[in-house]
Parts: sequence; structure tokens; C-alpha cells
Amino acid sequence: MSVRLLVDPVALRAGALTLSGDEHHYLSKVRRLAVGAHVVLLDGAGRMASAELRDIGSSSSQLWVEEPETLAPPRFQLHVAPALIKGERMDLAITKMVELGVHQISPLSSERSVVKLSKERALGRHKRFESLALAASRQCQNPHPTVISEVKSLPEWLDSEPAAELKLIPYLGAAAEPLASVLPDGDIASALVMIGPEGGFSESEAQAACTRGFRSVSLGPRTLRAETASIYMASVLGFRYGDVGSR
Ligand code: SAH
Repeated sequence: MSVRLLVDPVALRAGALTLSGDEHHYLSKVRRLAVGAHVVLLDGAGRMASAELRDIGSSSSQLWVEEPETLAPPRFQLHVAPALIKGERMDLAITKMVELGVHQISPLSSERSVVKLSKERALGRHKRFESLALAASRQCQNPHPTVISEVKSLPEWLDSEPAAELKLIPYLGAAAEPLASVLPDGDIASALVMIGPEGGFSESEAQAACTRGFRSVSLGPRTLRAETASIYMASVLGFRYGDVGSR
């Protein structure tokens, strides 16, 4: 498969294109492409174009870009809202969800999150998550790179009325229904999943989600680590409704 690069949507048009910085480093040093190599450019907003590498300099590369085309949208979009957990574990959850093709990740600060962030640090975290996601999207060559939203508090996020055909909150409370029993049989185009922090969701948080149309589900008799729960949900829902199978 040709090397895929993510470029700014504004930069993606037919004709000459100069790449510098990370993208230049990636194709010249990491992938060690030679002049004449063909690459695929993606703009992360649903367009792609073929391009030929025409020149490689010390700090930039020159490409010739064909007319961009619009990609078919993914048939299933999964949005995961994981509560913040400690550094490495959050990084792992984000990276793996990106690899699994999650469409959007909205990190939440919740009542029992061990990690508490000031506004400034929340912005820093968002930048970090975006760059992790970009590296993972590039590595797994996802034509529809994951969108990383800014960190919001759980109530603020719920107030923004995030929408999807299926809204789930894996929860360890007694009222939670088995996951398999709430998954629709046919295709669905979108799902939204909240995942709790190390200490789980508080009862009032779970209730607030349920009054907004989320169904609380059980993932079985074992308590999974938060990052495992995120990866599990992305795998199960991606397999059931996404582009892994050919139904
Ligand atoms: N000590 C916490 C465990 C949190 S696990 C508690 O008792 O609540 C972190 C998150 O992963 C949970 O908030 C939930 O969203 C999800 N999770 C992990 N295992 C689960 C299971 N067996 N069923 C439902 N949700 C689960």
C-alpha cells in the first residue's frame, strides 16, 4: 500500500505542494522514500489525492498532486467519551482507539477522576492527545483520522447533547443490562460510549447520562481497567457495525 500522509485541507489541491516539518521528516527519514515514489495524501476531512515525490531537500520535499477526490464516509461512526485516567493509561487508550478506527474521542473530567486538570493543563493535554492520535492515524493509515475533542467536564459535555443512534454507558451498577442484549441486530450508522475513570462513575453521573438517553450496560462479571473497557468497546462495536466484516 502506498505511504499515506495527512496534510492540511487547505493545502490539498492539484499541482505543486511543498511539505516541511513532520511530514517531510516522515517521508524522507522514516519511510526513506526516493524521488519518483507515489504517495497518497489525506486531508483528514474526507478528501484524498495521489501524489508523486519530485524532490527531497534537507528541510522540505516537493510533490506533484493529482486532482483530489472525496472519500465515501465510513459506514459506522463510533464516538467514545472516556473519563481522564492517569497519563500512560490514557495515552494507551487513545492510541488503541485510533488504531481501531474510532471516529471521535471526547475526553471527560469526571467526579472520581484521579487526574484533575486546570484549564491550562487541559489545553496542554488536548494538544498531547491530538499529536498521539495523529501519529497513530498515520501509523495505521486510517483514511478517516480520529477527531480529538477538547477536555470537558462530564456535565458540560452532557449538556452539549452529543447525539448517536445508540448511546451506551458501561457501568458497574445493578441495573446495567448485558451489552449483547442492547445491541441492535441490523446496521447502525453511529454509536456513542462513555467510559468511567479508575474509580468509576458516580451514581449521579450515571443517572444524568441515562436521563439523556444513554443505556447502562454491563461488560460481564469482571471489572475491566478503564483503558481496557475503552479498547473493548471500540473492538466490539467496530466489529459488529464497522468495516471489519463484509456483510
Ligand atoms: N472501581 C470502579 C471500576 C471502574 S472500571 C467501580 O467500581 O466503578 C472503569 C470503567 O470501565 C467503569 O466506569 C466502566 O465504565 C467500565 N467498566 C469496566 N468493567 C466493566 C464491567 N464489567 N461492566 C461495565 N462497565 C465496566
